[in-house]
Amino acid sequence: MLDVGRHPHIELLAYSEVEAVEGSAGCFTATIRKKARYVDSAKCTGCAACTEVCPTIVADRYNENHSTRKAIYSWFAQGIPSTHTIDTDHCRVFQGKKCGACQKKCEAGAIDFEQRDQVIKLEVGAVIVANGYQVFDPSRIPEYRYRDLPNVVTAMEFERFLSASGPTHGHVYRPSDLAVRNEIAALEKQEARARRGLARFEEKHGQSSEAFYQQQRSGGQPAEADLQQWLEKYEEYLPLKTRLDALQEQAKTIRTAKKLAFIQCVGSRDLRFYPFCSGFCCMHSIKEAIIAHEHDNDTTSVIFGMDIRAVSKGFEEYKVRGGNKSNINYRRSRVAEIVSDANHNPVLVYEDTKEQRVKRETFDLVILATACQPADGMADLAGVLGIDLNQFGFFATSPENPVDTSREGIFVCGCAHSPMDIPESVAQASSAASRAVQAVTQANLLTVV
Ligand SMILES: Cc1cc2nc3c(=O)[nH]c(=O)nc-3n(C[C@H](O)[C@H](O)[C@H](O)COP(=O)(O)OP(=O)(O)OC[C@H]3O[C@@H](n4cnc5c(N)ncnc54)[C@H](O)[C@@H]3O)c2cc1C
Ligand code: SF4
Ligand code: SF4
Repeated sequence: MLDVGRHPHIELLAYSEVEAVEGSAGCFTATIRKKARYVDSAKCTGCAACTEVCPTIVADRYNENHSTRKAIYSWFAQGIPSTHTIDTDHCRVFQGKKCGACQKKCEAGAIDFEQRDQVIKLEVGAVIVANGYQVFDPSRIPEYRYRDLPNVVTAMEFERFLSASGPTHGHVYRPSDLAVRNEIAALEKQEARARRGLARFEEKHGQSSEAFYQQQRSGGQPAEADLQQWLEKYEEYLPLKTRLDALQEQAKTIRTAKKLAFIQCVGSRDLRFYPFCSGFCCMHSIKEAIIAHEHDNDTTSVIFGMDIRAVSKGFEEYKVRGGNKSNINYRRSRVAEIVSDANHNPVLVYEDTKEQRVKRETFDLVILATACQPADGMADLAGVLGIDLNQFGFFATSPENPVDTSREGIFVCGCAHSPMDIPESVAQASSAASRAVQAVTQANLLTVV
């Protein structure tokens, strides 16, 4: 990405949308909307001083909503260009309230609430579409109870848990346990506020609130309004303190997830959703199980699936190494249902298809290998580009010309074409680039003639 940002022959238009592509191969005119960030990226140094003062807290989609960010933010730390963006759906100023703290704080003077979208026209010889994919929403399979059970997550969420820059800094804590910690953090703030309120009375009357409360309990209601108020404040504080103590006790038992279950083909190879194999999920489950084991050698993983598709150079060896050295057990099976025990531990009900028996097993965390499905807005983009989609919603190509779309001069690569891993996406991108060069050269030659 850095290389792209620095390359003298590449103009990067991030946070932009293609609105129209007119003309023909060799001489297209693309209309592009550069969306307003409300931050001048030429001035922004990426120092993040603005985010520190921003009072608005929003769920962070980059971390699959397992952490928070501010209303002024950068999508992720290594993003190119290194700049910030104001999220107008949440920023106080754009919601008609008073703020502007980021503008006051920014020493580079980069915050610009008056910035507007810019529409630009580019003359281009060819277009390559590489808008990728999105993961299947597993809540469409009700028996897996994704979203109902906190400790059932997608492989994408698990990637974030494993990442040093993720919500748990690479330690695999379960969402149910994170919820306990988050509640403790919120209650600790409330408790500190309540204690400050009580301290006023304690100072004035030279007595602790606890002692005062015990006195009142034995001697009836106080007559003085001030003392009555103190009593009410303490009675409001008590349930908060009781809940906090109970959660703090519970938190002492929190440990990282050590027994993992991976469920394969969630939405893939399933005639209710996508009949095709998504190609990369067997390998990313093995990879995630190996990394989890590297982080903590006590981790064990069971990968539940119809079969493991380790189809590329060195992949079979990687799979076997995972089994031999990383405590991975490959179980040929079909998972019928996920339920939960009283401690939020997911329980898998599955058919062991080798033994032909229905079994149950309890895990700390379940990870769903969700299908690779067409990216959001594929139909709109196909309309803008004037190209066809196939029956699944990916861009249509033919077996003879696998990177050529239905419109001459427009090419496709990566998961916008079909599910494929990174090496395949990169190889296909090279192929699309070479087809684009051919299209431009051919058009130039035709012009010369
Ligand atoms: C959990 C998980 C783990 C994986 N791990 C591995 C792994 O270890 N190794 C491996 O080889 N593969 C892995 N994969 C597969 C890998 O993610 C894909 O092979 C790869 O991302 C495909 O690259 P792409 O460029 O085609 O699409 P993407 O990576 O999806 O990139 C497409 C880009 O286009 C942008 N975009 C979308 N729409 C528009 C638009 N309209 N205008 C402008 N931009 C747009 C998107 O924001 C995105 O940045 C994993 C997949 C998953 C789900
Ligand atoms: S103006 Fe908006 S982005 Fe800036 S600090 Fe206030 S809420 Fe955050
Ligand atoms: S790669 Fe594996 S998990 Fe993914 S769809 Fe194919 S068989 Fe299923």
